[in-house]
Amino acid sequence: MWRCASRAFSIQSKNAASPGSIRRLFSVQSNRGSPQYTVVDHTYDAVVVGAGGAGLRAAIGLSEHGFNTACITKLFPTRSHTVAAQGGINAALGNMTEDDWRWHMYDTVKGSDWLGDQDAIQYMCREAPKAVIELENYGLPFSRTEEGKIYQRAFGGQSLDFGKGGQAYRCACAADRTGHALLHTLYGQAMKHNTQFFVEYFALDLLMSKDGSCQGVIALNMEDGTLHRFRAASTILATGGYGRAYFSATSAHTCTGDGNAMAARAGLPLEDLEFVQFHPTGIYGAGCLITEGSRGEGGILRNSEGERFMERYAPTAKDLASRDVVSRSMTMEIREGRGVGPLKDHIYLHLNHLPPEVLKERLPGISETAAIFAGVDVTKEPIPVLPTVHYNMGGIPTNHYGEVVTIRGDNPDHVIPGLFAAGEAACASVHGANRLGANSLLDIVVFGRACANRVAEISKPGEKQKPLENDSGEKTIAWLDKIRNSNGSLPTSSIRLKMQRVMQNNAAVFRTQETLEEGCQLIDQVWESFHDVKLTDRSLIWNSDLIETIELENLLINACITMHSAEARKESRGAHAREDFNKRDDQNWMKHTLGYWENEKVRLDYRPVHMNTLDDEVESFPPKARVY
Ligand SMILES: Cc1cc2nc3c(=O)[nH]c(=O)nc-3n(C[C@H](O)[C@H](O)[C@H](O)COP(=O)(O)OP(=O)(O)OC[C@H]3O[C@@H](n4cnc5c(N)ncnc54)[C@H](O)[C@@H]3O)c2cc1C
Repeated sequence: MWRCASRAFSIQSKNAASPGSIRRLFSVQSNRGSPQYTVVDHTYDAVVVGAGGAGLRAAIGLSEHGFNTACITKLFPTRSHTVAAQGGINAALGNMTEDDWRWHMYDTVKGSDWLGDQDAIQYMCREAPKAVIELENYGLPFSRTEEGKIYQRAFGGQSLDFGKGGQAYRCACAADRTGHALLHTLYGQAMKHNTQFFVEYFALDLLMSKDGSCQGVIALNMEDGTLHRFRAASTILATGGYGRAYFSATSAHTCTGDGNAMAARAGLPLEDLEFVQFHPTGIYGAGCLITEGSRGEGGILRNSEGERFMERYAPTAKDLASRDVVSRSMTMEIREGRGVGPLKDHIYLHLNHLPPEVLKERLPGISETAAIFAGVDVTKEPIPVLPTVHYNMGGIPTNHYGEVVTIRGDNPDHVIPGLFAAGEAACASVHGANRLGANSLLDIVVFGRACANRVAEISKPGEKQKPLENDSGEKTIAWLDKIRNSNGSLPTSSIRLKMQRVMQNNAAVFRTQETLEEGCQLIDQVWESFHDVKLTDRSLIWNSDLIETIELENLLINACITMHSAEARKESRGAHAREDFNKRDDQNWMKHTLGYWENEKVRLDYRPVHMNTLDDEVESFPPKARVY
């Protein structure tokens, strides 16, 4: 057994990492003696965890409002997964046809299968045109129309006139490299301000005070193994999704749900994790994404009989129905024996009927990806594709200001003081049970900015902060020490592979009670096996073995909550498609799942969906059947 030597700090004032920071030595007692860790304390007005689109936009806003801001990121900012986004960002700019943010809002509510919070959706869609023009002013090199306006392409689930006016052209893009353009633009803007970056710092845990408010985070500097307590009046989690809980995902290997797990370890719930989006067109085998923009530009899916089968499943929207609908239709075709290839286990995406100039100008990135990862010349041959895990609709519950909320007594919207979340890590909830393509880049900029604005509304730069509690971060250091010295029998990679296979097989496009019950048992077993993990590297300098193991624990917490939440939800809604409960059940299930991680087990609770709008600029959209 090991325990923490409480209050074993000794203060060393020399060699502090940044002005105003204080360096201390901290010992933990374990059966290996009393290893010492160097802890550096910093104080900021605000600390942002994550430097993807959401984190950078929050950091820019905070700095603009005059807050002394730190941005902590495990990756160099421009390597965040946002860089990989291809298709674009939705906003009712009306550059191609007449458009209205209310139509965008209707599409988003319908896309969410009525699980989205309508106040937050209204906020996002109304802010969208401003957000995109702001990006243009920041210098984002958007594709252009002949007249020089921002070019907007067709995207899945987007319509005009509340679904009655046909396909909308609402997705602004920079060819098929929109995320790359967006992230680099935001990073450039962040450089203009005084945001202090802590690059290749790995955030471990939130620093919560005994009264339930958040006081900052504790992070590991991966370069030299020092630990850093960032005390801040406002903490913004913008750590992205956890796609890597699955075997085949379009997301980067770094998408490991760290912020979600930090919130869960702090006793906060994670909302709606059962809703995992499968993108219809991941390259078969490799998993790399082929953007929905390829179908927006006229690409077509065909089965082994050469049939454009989406005409049967979604007579109006066809290949541009929403992602859950297209992924399910493809899976049905494969199951019914009409898949392509020797194993009849995938589908063809045809772009070869499109003019080569369009491919060159609008889809250069995916033409290259298809050549490298599928060996296909898109001007001549179809691309082999398969539904692949792409996005997490669920995350840390927030209101439309970005403030983290939880249930407290009979208040389902209790705000956690000092804590915010934005981007894929958060659940505002604007995507509900299914996200529409090009609504995430929008979400990250709108809610990153919303967090900064809210902080400015409720606090002032330089406000006095409570001191950290004496034992703040102590448990985390003991936990880190324990993981670092793990000496079981299973390598991290083998446990990770097991988890990924269980998630891929048991929480798939189609789900049943049987697969989900088995999934719960199996994922709980994988969690148990984590106690037997073995690390071979014990150092604190660039220890990737240690980082991957912490990421695995984080993924496992997300995976366990996902599986248990899915097992409990006895209906089909958006991305959660159950064969045994194949209808949406608004009577019993129009509610958000809250999954807590308590004593290494999942506990579930529920909170109501916000059906109200913010004001009378728009009326809320009552539930109806969702057809495309
Ligand atoms: C291939 C692909 C294509 C996509 N295309 C589109 C598209 O065209 N349109 C669209 O709307 N959406 C698209 N999406 C979705 C969208 O890109 C993402 O949901 C969005 O970019 C997520 O942004 P984010 O800022 O929340 O997180 P990310 O960009 O993932 O950034 C997360 C940040 O958190 C940091 N971080 C994480 N954990 C820690 C930790 N423990 N300590 C410190 N830092 C940490 C990372 O360093 C990183 O900076 C796509 C997604 C993928 C995978």
